[in-house]
Amino acid sequence: MDRTDRVYVAGHRGLVGSALVRRLQADKFANLITRTSRELDLRDRNAVDAFFAATRPQFVFLAAARVGGIRANSDHGGDFIRDNLLIQTHVIDAAHRFGVRKLLFFGSSCIYPRLAEQPIREEALLSAPLESTNAPYAVAKIAGIQICQAYRRQYGFNAICAMPANLYGPNDNFDLHQSHVLPALIRKFHSAVQNGDSRVVVWGTGRPLREFLHVDDLAAAAMLLMQRHDDEQIVNVGAGEEISIADLAALITLVSGFSGRIEYDASQPDGVPRKVLDIRRIRSLGWAPRISLEAGVRSAYAWYAARADLLERERVAT
Ligand code: GDP
Repeated sequence: MDRTDRVYVAGHRGLVGSALVRRLQADKFANLITRTSRELDLRDRNAVDAFFAATRPQFVFLAAARVGGIRANSDHGGDFIRDNLLIQTHVIDAAHRFGVRKLLFFGSSCIYPRLAEQPIREEALLSAPLESTNAPYAVAKIAGIQICQAYRRQYGFNAICAMPANLYGPNDNFDLHQSHVLPALIRKFHSAVQNGDSRVVVWGTGRPLREFLHVDDLAAAAMLLMQRHDDEQIVNVGAGEEISIADLAALITLVSGFSGRIEYDASQPDGVPRKVLDIRRIRSLGWAPRISLEAGVRSAYAWYAARADLLERERVAT
């Protein structure tokens, strides 16, 4: 992939896509192709074909997806499986038919079995039952992996797959009904400090263990995979460290300066008890995470705090 190649970033306004655009721009890629979902609905096959015919991308980062946290996934499973199946099928198939040289598909650590051995190796895929709270999303992502692998075998199409841990960073989704835990807690603690509230509610028991990767670290990994990985084997991308939700809440308490108390709402789901990825494969390709959780949370908190009023107004207006 050269700086003059036409590179399409699908989902460029999202958490992953916007990090890729920042990275590609910093690396002086001159021919980036992007479309908002309003300009191009990736669930519409004819529109996707017309777009590929007109723009002829040579490399594609497929970061467009319907994503959400534990409640959004369990309440709207139908939307998650349908939209993701449509988006990825259309984009991968068009990329193959319109002569794209290489495509990188982003999956998720939730593709792995609920009780997978930890840290989770890539080989654990499809070895045992999934976690029920996000199974429709996970099945769509697994289908995406299978499409990439089957197109490679049948058509020689160079599609590769990265499986990131729980991500966070700029342009995350801070809507409390949709978001993952880290942006949700940033928002809850920030608004408690602003409003002088004495308590913050954290879902579940606080005991589940999760791994959080700053999205700029993922973007660096994605660039490396695009340059060096031409194989059907999927590749985990994680921070290699885990933290309990209670300890995450303690970290955000520290960063926000909140001085009230934390309450746990055990009526909300915990999800999988533990989810940490084995990252030996991507490390062997020459990548390592660089942004510590504390530094990353501090910068994500500052990013949110600088925009909180604006994001709040947008939410009320829509
Ligand atoms: P998961 O990694 O797929 O389970 O997705 P989430 O990031 O949504 O949730 C991770 C864990 O954080 C779960 O155990 C949640 O119950 C817990 N959690 C605690 N407070 C919150 C919150 O305010 N929002 C979300 N989404 N999760 C929370």
